Amino acid sequence: MLLRTFSTAALFVTVLSTVAGAQTPIPAIAAASKAMGVDTLTSITYSGTARNGSFGQSKSIGDPMGPVNVTQINAYIRTINFAPPATPDALVSRATGTTVPPTVPGAPSPTPGVFNQNITGTQASGGWTQALNIWTTPWGFVKGAANAAPNSITLRQEGGQQVIAYSPANLKSPSGQAYLVTGYLDNQNLVTKVETRVENAVVGDLPVVFEYSNYQNLNGVQVPTRIAQRQAGLLTFDANIMAATPNPQNLTQLLTPPAPAAPAAGVAPQPAAPAAPAAPPAVEAQMLGPGAFKITGNYTSLALDMGDHILVVESGGSDARGLEVMAAAKRAIPNKPVRFVVNSHPHFDHASGLAAAVAEGATILTHRNNEPVLEQLLAGPRTLTGDSLSKVTNRRTNVVEAVADRDVRRGTNGKVVELHHVVNEHSDGMLAVYLPAEKALWTADVTVVNPTPAQLGIVRSVVQEVNRLNLDYNSWIPAHPPNPDRPLTKADVTAAAGAN
Ligand SMILES: [Zn+2]
Repeated sequence: MLLRTFSTAALFVTVLSTVAGAQTPIPAIAAASKAMGVDTLTSITYSGTARNGSFGQSKSIGDPMGPVNVTQINAYIRTINFAPPATPDALVSRATGTTVPPTVPGAPSPTPGVFNQNITGTQASGGWTQALNIWTTPWGFVKGAANAAPNSITLRQEGGQQVIAYSPANLKSPSGQAYLVTGYLDNQNLVTKVETRVENAVVGDLPVVFEYSNYQNLNGVQVPTRIAQRQAGLLTFDANIMAATPNPQNLTQLLTPPAPAAPAAGVAPQPAAPAAPAAPPAVEAQMLGPGAFKITGNYTSLALDMGDHILVVESGGSDARGLEVMAAAKRAIPNKPVRFVVNSHPHFDHASGLAAAVAEGATILTHRNNEPVLEQLLAGPRTLTGDSLSKVTNRRTNVVEAVADRDVRRGTNGKVVELHHVVNEHSDGMLAVYLPAEKALWTADVTVVNPTPAQLGIVRSVVQEVNRLNLDYNSWIPAHPPNPDRPLTKADVTAAAGAN
């Protein structure tokens, strides 16, 4: 997630100035503040158990809470300070708990870890992506609405609930639009749901919804003992809350992460990172063979001359990178349209350049397991991003085309590009791209240089597929080049797959 860097403590104070009780003239908000115990609430801590999914990075893109992607969080505890923080870098929200990561077939048993979701005052005042985590809580919503300018609030009835919407002051999306946060109050004046939208490179205006139910009065504050979060309509987090304390005495301690463990005796501390940032790597098209180019720049795409059009493999992890890839492809293969862009798999670090490909007029080719969800994700409104696709008038629909397990593309010039579904635990819709004339195999997220034990399982399953398919290759081209970059061969792949 991007965080814009402008921010001051003062901004946070402005966003968040309702500390002592609601002054709102809107009766529904005042009633909710009283009913929820928010009038005197300046901070809260609550605890229970939770499950955290992997939105945009799951094996099945439509199931962020799938068995290999869901992390169980025991002793989940979250603390929120609604008052201005002592310093801009002090935490205003901290969630933590010991984790039981998912078991992934072919990977070593996971070791328990620690969940950490920390938000500083600077982060909460710098962008809605972080701030929404505070203002979409039931108490944060009531406080935000109570503090909103009355003429910015709308009120309506829906299904027996009162629906209140307001725009948070001071935070604007990259396109310059105000955000909107909407809360639903039941007939007890309890917040049952809060929804908002935030910019996302794949989804555009990403809907983020929190559902709150099974309220209990815990120490004088109304707390939903059941919390569920959905992003783009997909369940991404849920929690069962067992305890809560309003205005905890030990707030500072609760909001202070433990100091990092001291290095063991005799272990030299890590050297400081070099001060000067490295220049961004050059984006250039390197020829692999006639009409076949590798587009570099710390991410490897391919541009292939299909005679009457260009086929691009992968448009990268951002709108900017997507635009660079489109431009580099058209420079390498002039006067032809980019008609197709292959998406290796729909993880957001490989799908965030697709909007630029759609803006270019290309059709996205992805494995059929991804097609319905990817189509839906790319189809939504884009009023917040200000990206290339948001500037296209008359946007096309049906921009994603499903490909089967094996899809051979033949250009009018005889160029052959083979797309192969490779089965693995990382993504159930992963395509590898084989260029028979160049004897080159392009893959994403199959790490053959110093793979971790978990990555080794993916290498082995993909190599097994490639051998089964009898793909005769010399050159192995990874989307994420090794650091330092070097050409990889079949021998590197075989050695990695055989390593213990
Ligand atoms: Zn991935």
